[in-house]
Amino acid sequence: MNFTLLKSDKNTSARTGILQTDHGTIETPIFMPVGTHGAVKTLSPQELETAGAQIILGNTYHLYLRPGHTLIKDAGGLHGFANWENPILTDSGGFQVFSLATLNKITDDGVEFRSHLNGSKHFFTPDVSMDIQRHLGSDIIMAFDECPPSDADFQTIETAVKRTAKWIKQCWDYLKSTPPIHSWEQTLFPIVQGGVVPELRKRSAEEVVPFAECGIAIGGLAVGEEKNAMFDTIALMDNILPKDHPRYLMGVGTPADLVESVMNGVDMFDCVMPTRNARNGQLFTSTGKLNIRNGKYKDDFSIVDENCSCMLCQNHTRAYLRHLLNVNEIYGLRLASLHNVTYYLNLMKEMRTRINDGSFSPWAKRYLDNYKK
Ligand SMILES: [Zn+2]
Repeated sequence: MNFTLLKSDKNTSARTGILQTDHGTIETPIFMPVGTHGAVKTLSPQELETAGAQIILGNTYHLYLRPGHTLIKDAGGLHGFANWENPILTDSGGFQVFSLATLNKITDDGVEFRSHLNGSKHFFTPDVSMDIQRHLGSDIIMAFDECPPSDADFQTIETAVKRTAKWIKQCWDYLKSTPPIHSWEQTLFPIVQGGVVPELRKRSAEEVVPFAECGIAIGGLAVGEEKNAMFDTIALMDNILPKDHPRYLMGVGTPADLVESVMNGVDMFDCVMPTRNARNGQLFTSTGKLNIRNGKYKDDFSIVDENCSCMLCQNHTRAYLRHLLNVNEIYGLRLASLHNVTYYLNLMKEMRTRINDGSFSPWAKRYLDNYKK
């Protein structure tokens, strides 16, 4: 895998690049739709491709519990199992263990937890996470790290930074000392932790950057901290992290968050927001957010977004979508999800075009001003 920087914006830290994997190339900045259980909720691989998805994310914790990583390995990895031929990134499982499962104990060795499904007991270590992700066959493997909550005190964050440093070395050693399972290259992305404490962020970056081969992630943000603190931390990371690696900001965010983060040198994103909000009736459009469940759309026969090429906007009215969601019709969930994912991917495409043609910073300022209105 390799990353080539194409163009850097003159006025901001925005840049475009190409990330080359054995399953194809990814143009950055990019958004990765989240395929929790091996599918992006309600969408087919073909629909994702049409929407412009170049890489999707799979959740190690969920796929390990159901259907199990050895079964997925037998199906040809997650690519074969889901029939998705483009790149895949898997997370380490850690974040779901911390947020969904019942935690028994965290030690320097790993995390003992009970499944949120049936209470069964499991123990994740860096080696276990690497082994599962090897079976899943993702192109990008995420390091096993500790992500403390946003209200954690200094000492808790410091302990998480120490463990994250210990565990990245173990992840690295495991991948270097054991044979690959699939025939394609898998690259490890280390994760910088440290909450919103500059001193700890710097320390964590120093400790994990040496393990970055082709990409590095900023973890531990968008977990409930203040927006200003999040962006201060992203700006700090922009100054510290090497320029020649793609930077992946985990779990972010709103369309405005994406634009502001790209301005601060971030190249890759994932978030459940476009699909989750779609199922709740919140649609992102070129003229702002729209809550389709609102009564005023009952007999609104206009289309959701004049500037969108998705199946919803090409074929159906607001009133029709509102009706489908109100009666829990599955087609409505599909249409809304497809629209929001298309919106996010088009936004990334627009940013790439603007960075490449030199018009990014005035465009980004206009976009953020409009978004706030
Ligand atoms: Zn649309």
